[in-house]
Amino acid sequence: MTNYKELIQKYEVDVYPRREVVLVKGKGARLWDDQGNEYIDMAAGISVANIGHGNEKVAQAISEQAATLITCPNTFYNDKKALFLEKLFEIAPKNLTRAFLTNSGTEAVEAAIKFARLNSGKTKFIAAMKGFHGRTMGALSATYKKEYREGFEPLVPGFTFVPYNNFEKLAEVVDNDTAAIILEPVQGEGGINIGNKEYFQKVRQLCDEKNIFLIIDEIQSGFCRTGKMFAIEHLGIEVDMMTVAKSIAGGFPMGALLCSDKIKVEKSKHGSTFGGNPLACSAGIASIGFMTENKLWEEAEAKGKYFKEKLEKLQLSKIREIRIIGLMIGIELKDKVQPVIIELLSKGIISLPAGTTVLRMLPPLVISYEDLDTVVEKLAEVLK
Ligand SMILES: *Cc1c(COP(=O)(O)O)cnc(C)c1O
Repeated sequence: MTNYKELIQKYEVDVYPRREVVLVKGKGARLWDDQGNEYIDMAAGISVANIGHGNEKVAQAISEQAATLITCPNTFYNDKKALFLEKLFEIAPKNLTRAFLTNSGTEAVEAAIKFARLNSGKTKFIAAMKGFHGRTMGALSATYKKEYREGFEPLVPGFTFVPYNNFEKLAEVVDNDTAAIILEPVQGEGGINIGNKEYFQKVRQLCDEKNIFLIIDEIQSGFCRTGKMFAIEHLGIEVDMMTVAKSIAGGFPMGALLCSDKIKVEKSKHGSTFGGNPLACSAGIASIGFMTENKLWEEAEAKGKYFKEKLEKLQLSKIREIRIIGLMIGIELKDKVQPVIIELLSKGIISLPAGTTVLRMLPPLVISYEDLDTVVEKLAEVLK
C-alpha cells in the first residue's frame, strides 16, 4: 500500500506541523481517514467548509463548469464571473459596490494595501496586535506574530501595531501619513478575540475625521460563521474595503476584496491570471446560493448558543474563558492546548489551536446537534 505520509514528508517543503492522520473524504461535518476512521470536523479547513464537505450543489457546479470552460483571460467578459459578482453583491454590505477577485485571502489583503496607498497618496498602516492577515510580504507586514515575520525582514515599511479593542492606543499612533487601519472583526488566529462594538464605531469615526480608509478582514469571520453573513453586521459600521476568502466558494480556492466607491483604480494598475476564473466563480455561485437558501447564519447563531450553554454548564476547571460568537469558538485553557488537540483527535474530534492556550473550533455550519453533543462530551472527558 502507498505510504502517503512518507511521500509528503519526503517531497513537500516542511512548513506545516503535522497531525498523524491522512484525510481522504468528507461529507457534511464528518471526515474519514485512509484507514476508514470517522471524525467530527470542528475545523472545517479553518472556516473554509462552512457549507459542509461534499456539498452536492458545489460539486455539480464545479464538474459542469470544468467540462465547459475552466479558464478565461480577465481581459474578456465571462458569464460565470458576471453571475458570481451579482450574487456576491446581493449579500455584501450595501456601501460596497465593486470587487477585485483573487485566489486566496492573502491576495485580497495585498490588493487592499495597494489600493489604500493608491487612493490616499499616503503610506502608513495601523494593524492590531495578535492580528493575522496572511503570509505574502504585504499581508505579512500587517500580521503581528513574531514567528511568522522573523527571517523575512525587511517587510513593507510603515506598519504599526496597537492593542486590539483599545481606542486610545490606536488614536495615539494615527498621523497625517496614515493611509488605512486594518482589523479583523473577530481575531481568529489571535485567539478568537471578539471585536467591541463601541471600539469599532469610534475607529470608524476617527477614519472619517482623518480621511483614513478602514479595511476589515472578514476572511475567517465572513460567510455566516459568526451568526451574520458578515461579522461587521454585529458592529454596525460601514467599511471602505473588506477582504473575504476561505469559505466563499465552498472550499474551492477563491478570495475577493470588496470596495466602496471611494476606491478607484486605473486600468492595468493591478491584476491576476487566475483571480475570478470561471471554475471558482461557478463554485462561488453555488456556495453563496446554498448559504442564503439555507439561512446558514441562523444555523450558526442557534448552534453556537446551544454549544456555549452546554459547555458552560459543565464548569470545567481547566477552562479559563469561553469566547463564542456564532460558531466561531475559542476556549481559552489554563494550560497548553496542543495535548488537548491530540487527545481530542484520538477520540475522533478534529480541532484547531489559536496560539498556545486557545482551543479553536470552527465546524461546518451544517453540523448536527448530535455531533455538537458528542464534541461537548469528549471535551468533558479530556478536560475533566
Ligand atoms: C486565513 C486568513 C488569511 C489568509 O488567507 P489565505 O487564503 O491563507 O492566504 C488572512 N486573514 C485572515 C483573518 C485569515 O483567517
